[in-house]
Amino acid sequence: MQIFWLKRNLRLQDSEPFYQSMKEFRQFGPVLPLYIHEPSLINQPDVALQHQRFVQETLQALDTELRGVGGQLLQVTGEAVETLDRIHQARPIRRICTHRETTQNSQYARDRKVRQWCLENGIELVEFGHNGVVRGAQEALSFPDYFAASVRVKLKDPRGTDLTERFAEPPVAASAAASVPLARGDDKPLRLRGGRRQAEKMLQRFFTVRNIHQYPFQLSSPNTAFEGCARISAYLAYGIVSDREVFQAVDRVVTDGHQRLDQSEFQTLQKRARFFLDRLLWRRQYIQAFETNPRLETECMLAQFNGVREAEFNAVFYDAWTSGTTGFPYIDAGMRCLHDTGWINMRLRATLVSFATMNLWLPTTRVAQFLATQFLDYDPAIHHVIHQVVSGTSTFDGLMVYDPIKQGQDHDAEGAFVRRWLPELDDLPGSAVHDLSQTARCLSDKARAMGLAPYPAAIVDHRVTANVAKRRVNDLQKGRQDSGHRQMGLL
Ligand SMILES: Cc1cc2nc3c(=O)[nH]c(=O)nc-3n(C[C@H](O)[C@H](O)[C@H](O)COP(=O)(O)OP(=O)(O)OC[C@H]3O[C@@H](n4cnc5c(N)ncnc54)[C@H](O)[C@@H]3O)c2cc1C
Repeated sequence: MQIFWLKRNLRLQDSEPFYQSMKEFRQFGPVLPLYIHEPSLINQPDVALQHQRFVQETLQALDTELRGVGGQLLQVTGEAVETLDRIHQARPIRRICTHRETTQNSQYARDRKVRQWCLENGIELVEFGHNGVVRGAQEALSFPDYFAASVRVKLKDPRGTDLTERFAEPPVAASAAASVPLARGDDKPLRLRGGRRQAEKMLQRFFTVRNIHQYPFQLSSPNTAFEGCARISAYLAYGIVSDREVFQAVDRVVTDGHQRLDQSEFQTLQKRARFFLDRLLWRRQYIQAFETNPRLETECMLAQFNGVREAEFNAVFYDAWTSGTTGFPYIDAGMRCLHDTGWINMRLRATLVSFATMNLWLPTTRVAQFLATQFLDYDPAIHHVIHQVVSGTSTFDGLMVYDPIKQGQDHDAEGAFVRRWLPELDDLPGSAVHDLSQTARCLSDKARAMGLAPYPAAIVDHRVTANVAKRRVNDLQKGRQDSGHRQMGLL
């Protein structure tokens, strides 16, 4: 029997491990699709209930899809080696096919244990690379080559075929849903839902000539980004869609534009498509950076920063920042929006992190850990590297300290976003929500009726703290080796 092991690769479409195991079922035996609910992963501090629910919704949809082609998904609660061993005792496993992950260090350690167990038991373990990321001495394709190869591939989709004879009957019983430990935190009422169908809806919604055309003008403001961005990151993070599917969607838009637009409009479209693809290029670069430097999950890239912010940790600042009560309206609105939706746009993420690590001097890894629980699309490989870039603890060039007031004035000029998420400021008109002399101790009629306290005064002087932080970061960075990396998309 073979195992098709689903981890952060929760799809059947464009799935090499699924395809290969199905194709070679005569040689290696029938295939058992397996998901393991690992308590050690669920209990990690960066895993939150919203992630778990999103995964569960996806697994339910996957099971339905598998049943549509004659199989079913076996879900078991337990640690990976112990679960695989139990299955192996019930029915010998000849081969395990899965994806090679670039994710938390604990999962890397888990994969090593599985590899060792496979070796001891004479089981072949095939780990397929993805996202164009390479391990060890392998050489990565350049992004243009990787993109070109990806759009040429004929992506496989098993839907509509009868594969019944290729599936194995589950040799052990599925675990009861109640046996799965609950992850920490609350679910988010306005987050995206899991499942392949939801992912496909997002792809269909976004990838049109019109949206790609407008994308560069929509992504920086939270008022436009919810509609104007692709909103596919959580589906990519859990492998519900592959990056190759996204590349092909971009390619289809460009082909469509070529047929419909005049030359100059088409050239503009091409530029905008490239602008969008740059983001997918950064995505791959960040994942590769984490693959080669996994200690970034817990340590700063520049070792001289380790322990520096930690030594001055201010719990009052941390609580104000995490609860959206710093007295800086744009920061607090961003945080409270995140609490409810699990998503904010990239610029606002960088602004929140810059404020926390520069103005409040909070430790980078602690900030990253908290936001990991808040972002539905939390992808350790991207997340930890970007935090290091924004907080100045990396070897990436350029340091940008975002002004929390100016960011609000630039990207929420009329204050609609701030008023939506800070009812305390509901009575302030237009841009007055960015004037700290008016927001301090402000309490709108609406907020009073809701029983809220007045909006707090600013907890720091943002200009003074920014200057101090810039000087300290620059001093600590002195003498660093230039990595040749450019900051990706944050300036
Ligand atoms: C502090 C911080 C933490 C972040 N943490 C994560 C994370 O955990 N997971 C995650 O997927 N993204 C993360 N990002 C990157 C980016 O904010 C999100 O990918 C993006 O906002 C997701 O929304 P979208 O799908 O609508 O993206 P779009 O703007 O529509 O972009 C399309 C896709 O390109 C990729 N992408 C876009 N911007 C970036 C970027 N700057 N770096 C890398 N890839 C990018 C994503 O896969 C995204 O889905 C982080 C950014 C910052 C500043």
